[in-house]
Amino acid sequence: MAAMTFIVVSIAVRGVQDVPIALDRARQAVGDGARLVEWRLDELAEEEGALRAAERLLRESPAPSIVTIRPENEGGQYAGPDDERISLLEALATGEYPPRYIDIELETIQRSMNVRQKVMLAVQHGRQVRDLHTALIVSSHDFRQRPADLLQRIEAMTNEAAASVVKIVWQARSLRDNLEAFDLLRERRKPMAAFCMGSMGLMSRVLAPKFGGLFTYAGDIPTEVTAPGQLMVRELRERYRFDSIGSGTNVYGVIGWPVAHSLGPAIHNAGFDAVGHDGVYLPLPVPPEYEHFKATVGSLVDHAPLDFRGASVTIPHKTNLVCFVRERGGVIEALAEKIGAANTLVVRENGVLEARNTDAPAAVEALCAGMGIELGELRSKRIAVLGAGGVARAVVWGLARLGAHVVVFNRTQERAAELAAAFAGRPLSGESNGAAKVEAGRGSDLGCGCFHAIVNCTSIGMKRLDGDEENGSDQSSESPLDVLADGAEVQLDENVTVMDTVYTPRATPLIVEARERGARIVTGDAMFFRQAAMQFELWTGKEAPVALWRKDLTERSG
Ligand code: NAP
Repeated sequence: MAAMTFIVVSIAVRGVQDVPIALDRARQAVGDGARLVEWRLDELAEEEGALRAAERLLRESPAPSIVTIRPENEGGQYAGPDDERISLLEALATGEYPPRYIDIELETIQRSMNVRQKVMLAVQHGRQVRDLHTALIVSSHDFRQRPADLLQRIEAMTNEAAASVVKIVWQARSLRDNLEAFDLLRERRKPMAAFCMGSMGLMSRVLAPKFGGLFTYAGDIPTEVTAPGQLMVRELRERYRFDSIGSGTNVYGVIGWPVAHSLGPAIHNAGFDAVGHDGVYLPLPVPPEYEHFKATVGSLVDHAPLDFRGASVTIPHKTNLVCFVRERGGVIEALAEKIGAANTLVVRENGVLEARNTDAPAAVEALCAGMGIELGELRSKRIAVLGAGGVARAVVWGLARLGAHVVVFNRTQERAAELAAAFAGRPLSGESNGAAKVEAGRGSDLGCGCFHAIVNCTSIGMKRLDGDEENGSDQSSESPLDVLADGAEVQLDENVTVMDTVYTPRATPLIVEARERGARIVTGDAMFFRQAAMQFELWTGKEAPVALWRKDLTERSG
């Protein structure tokens, strides 16, 4: 039976007048699933009447408490003298309403013999003769990076006689930091919490139950988090399925830069839940360069206890995935090899890696469904693809290999010509005879009235989400036809199908215009759900609950 990991909600109490609000917040968080409340008294501790206010918090706390008064040098707000805060903690631990734990920094205990002795007398431990009910968490924090003396700190905290729990926290610089936190948990000699801060550290907060961490800390209000990278209690439980994570849980994620706004965690975790798959799907930010990709993904794959079983791979790593799997001697699906990019990593139980491209078949299926035709009927169709980036490459080859006549339009003409040259004349897929028909078009050719379908693979129409600066400017008021057609009138009527690969928003200006002018439309979410469903099926062997995903997304977008 795996050790239980408690969700601790951390609540900063700014002053005496804050106590009722803090208690309300704690009740709400406990209702949401927090099992302990950490009262952060950094600011309250410096106020007149702190002891009585703190006792009220302990008396009325809706769950067992941890009391922490963190000094500034360990990332807290307390600026007063050490002996005063230690005296307050001591008074609480030996008082009428003792907290379950007090948290004191290793550095504080090591700095003063006097503090160590005071603490020894105030908490429960093996050599304690008094009947006390508060245990000691000894903690250590580094807000910049992995401390150089990490292992010595763990050793010192573990050897501290009064310590019941060891807590180590540092700022993750890469996803690899999490793996070291997991190794510390696996090798622990005392109950331990080990995790990393920052967006790179999210994994260690979610996967604490997999490695037997005693606590994971979460917030209750996004603007009130007490440490960078902290998730909300509800987010941990609802989005990341915290309660069902155990030692055998398989790990998946979305690898990209940035990844914070990806819909992947919401849909795949809901999907795992719906089909009863023991898995969790996480955002996995990896900086753009290949060296980062290789080092990080290599470490995830090689860390056997992590049970890393696969990933969705997005901008800017789709070509990196093909290189990586090739270097590792894995299997590159023929389609991904031809396109030169893959969006899906599968890690088989025997360690074999597979790179696949589900963007291309997803786009083709979504388009054919929208056109009301079978895949085989593409041979007689002429299709305009707008854009020459990564998605365009997958869509162009996906259509051309089945015999469609594809014309590529792009702002940068040379890229369209290069893309067309890469695929034109190649043999068609499977049993089909013939050669692929792909050419680059000039803007005004879009007005020829000769296309059965137009597929937007540029980012025009996409809304930039807050905090997503790396994805360029907001293009949500523009239509690619206005930008690329050189003023030509583009035929849009019931004989034409218009598909957008952009899915935020669902109704892009292109889709709105096409609908108004009577064309058939295919929105970007059709492709998005299909490519995600194919990934889901590769990982779980089960059919993806696409109807549920659709419902969730519709509710989410109001
Ligand atoms: P990419 O490689 O960066 O390519 C971007 C393309 O957009 C290029 O052709 C670029 O033209 C063009 N472009 C960008 N801004 C433009 C502007 N202001 N005017 C004219 N052309 C412009 O990106 P990608 O990976 O192909 O992704 C493209 C879009 O596909 C994304 O924005 C995303 O919304 C969508 N997508 C959808 C799915 C799905 O499942 N539905 C999956 C992945 C991506 P230049 O060559 O001239 O720069």
